[in-house]
Amino acid sequence: MKCALITGGSRGIGRAVCVRLAEQGYHILINYKGNTAAAEETLEAVRQQGTDGTLLKFDVGNETEVNEVLGAWIDANKDKQIEVLVNNAGIREDMLLFQMSTEKWKSVLDASLDGFFYVTKLVLTGMLMKRYGRIVNMVSLSGLKGTPGQVNYSAAKAGLIGATKALAQEVAKRNVTVNAVAPGFIRTDMTEGLPEKELSAMVPMQRFGTAEEVAEAVAFLSSKGASYITGEVLNINGGLYS
Ligand code: NAP
Repeated sequence: MKCALITGGSRGIGRAVCVRLAEQGYHILINYKGNTAAAEETLEAVRQQGTDGTLLKFDVGNETEVNEVLGAWIDANKDKQIEVLVNNAGIREDMLLFQMSTEKWKSVLDASLDGFFYVTKLVLTGMLMKRYGRIVNMVSLSGLKGTPGQVNYSAAKAGLIGATKALAQEVAKRNVTVNAVAPGFIRTDMTEGLPEKELSAMVPMQRFGTAEEVAEAVAFLSSKGASYITGEVLNINGGLYS
């Protein structure tokens, strides 16, 4: 059985990616941190595509939890291959740096950057052994240009861009590609409460993007057809930055 693991698959962009990869016939491993009701809704949407999925509840930023839940699943499912890994889980805790607590700094880096490390390390071994894999990391416009009020988030995403490019070179020979997608403003729970009308005026396309528009790019980079693209960062931002 060919599987795709999407971290943060219960809501927003992650959910749209789960549904899009389900359309391609993958068994979807839906990771989430705490919102079981939302994760079950994603699972139902995956099933509507004619495939199935498994819920894996763990905090990507907690190495013990990652090893206990994901590590145990991998050990118990040696006949199944995780072909696609989408490191999508992430949070924002916006605040000016001079006011930022250590906890707010660490929690954002834990989810995006440490989470990438813990999860990828576990999944990569199988990909290297099978000599095939697709890894897509969810970064952000903030990781490319830096956003004031988001020093923690910008650092986490910029770090993930560096990790994407470095890992791509480490594993290229084994047919494992590692890319990133960098959304601008996408309408999800994460951007709820932002002044959408005001911010849309800054976007050449004059609107926020949808989770489905991001999922389409992830599906391409996860496909067999994207075989000679690695270490790349694809902007999905309506022309806001490229
Ligand atoms: P969202 O709607 O807030 O959903 C976040 C998802 O991540 C949820 O499924 C949540 O699980 C999960 N999650 C959060 N922390 C986690 C952790 N420590 N361990 C496991 N799962 C965790 O966010 P979104 O807008 O879809 O964002 C998805 C990704 O895109 C993030 O990496 C974000 O930085 C990036 N991004 C978003 C935008 C945007 O405009 N929305 C722009 C650029 C980049 P629960 O449901 O269990 O809480």
